[in-house]
Amino acid sequence: MANGVLILAELMDGKIAAVTQELVGAAQRLGAGPVSAMLLGSGVEGAASGVTGVEKTYVVDDAALAEYTTDGFTNAAAAVVALADPAIILLGQTNAGRDLGPALSFKLGTAVAMDTTSLEMKDGKLHTTRPAYGGNARAVNGFTSTPAIATVRPKSQDAAEGGSAGVVEKVAFDASGIRTKVVARNVAASEGVRLEDADTVVTGGRGLGGPEGFADIEALAKELGGAVGASRAVADLGWRPVGEQVGLTGKVVSPTLYIAVAVSGASQHMAGCSGSKNIVAINKDPDANIFKASRFGIVGDYKTVLPAFLAAVKKVRAEG
Ligand SMILES: Cc1cc2nc3c(=O)[nH]c(=O)nc-3n(C[C@H](O)[C@H](O)[C@H](O)COP(=O)(O)OP(=O)(O)OC[C@H]3O[C@@H](n4cnc5c(N)ncnc54)[C@H](O)[C@@H]3O)c2cc1C
Repeated sequence: MANGVLILAELMDGKIAAVTQELVGAAQRLGAGPVSAMLLGSGVEGAASGVTGVEKTYVVDDAALAEYTTDGFTNAAAAVVALADPAIILLGQTNAGRDLGPALSFKLGTAVAMDTTSLEMKDGKLHTTRPAYGGNARAVNGFTSTPAIATVRPKSQDAAEGGSAGVVEKVAFDASGIRTKVVARNVAASEGVRLEDADTVVTGGRGLGGPEGFADIEALAKELGGAVGASRAVADLGWRPVGEQVGLTGKVVSPTLYIAVAVSGASQHMAGCSGSKNIVAINKDPDANIFKASRFGIVGDYKTVLPAFLAAVKKVRAEG
């Protein structure tokens, strides 16, 4: 009988990605049986020991998995599922997870809940919660099929700490079923910390008045070791690249600190940042929607507030 939780371990620059230990933490807290991991790719076996707090890590290490392809990773994951027989499968809401989740659920004839931010067991079954209608409502889903699959938003879960690596079990799979061939990979140039991974995000809105208004935003993000974000209005105006857009049609971020400067806080924007642990807003309009979601708010012209804010941050950091 299906039992336990299987999570997808992912690599970032050859090391186990942070989201992996977040999934292990979520799986442990569910208390739904043994927690195991699957690590899929080429030349990945050595990284398996980086997954801790699991009983077993299933590894599919095959040259055919050097590049992510939907059919390759779905077939490899299905081979692991056939062995592990989990009741629940958790994946990150990452590039791989958001593609693999639906494909795997289709292959296994089961259901997937996407972009979940909280998980719990009710009457022995997984229930997931995710933001809906642009973050204005929360959808709670249960499952009538097994295994229950969910993708989990990065940074929405506390990572498992400690614990030792699980037993590594190599799993063979048939690569002949892969019909996709990757012919090129174009990586967007980016500097510093990735927006999705940043623990601090400083976002600028249309109220900055132009691209030059981002000089202080960049300076503050750099000082805090964070990333720069933008509202859609800003991206549409071409002041910042679309890759920096936060929101319903942009990126979803859940940093510890989200600083929104001259951003009105439209619901479509909040859909991308409402999972932030602390929102700080600077806006000259005291009735701006962003203040409703903010832990701290400063009402004022950013041209006055931001330089003082930056100076204060520098002073505090210099004082250690
Ligand atoms: C289908 C759909 C999808 C969308 N997806 C997204 C999305 O992914 N992300 C997104 O951001 N938006 C999205 N939008 C657009 C969204 O509705 C808003 O139009 C957009 O977020 C507004 O951007 P803004 O807050 O930068 O600009 P504005 O709404 O123009 O707000 C500017 C703010 O700056 C303040 N301000 C002005 N001058 C100053 C100053 N000197 N100092 C301090 N504050 C100042 C103003 O008080 C105001 O609150 C979407 C809309 C639709 C319909």
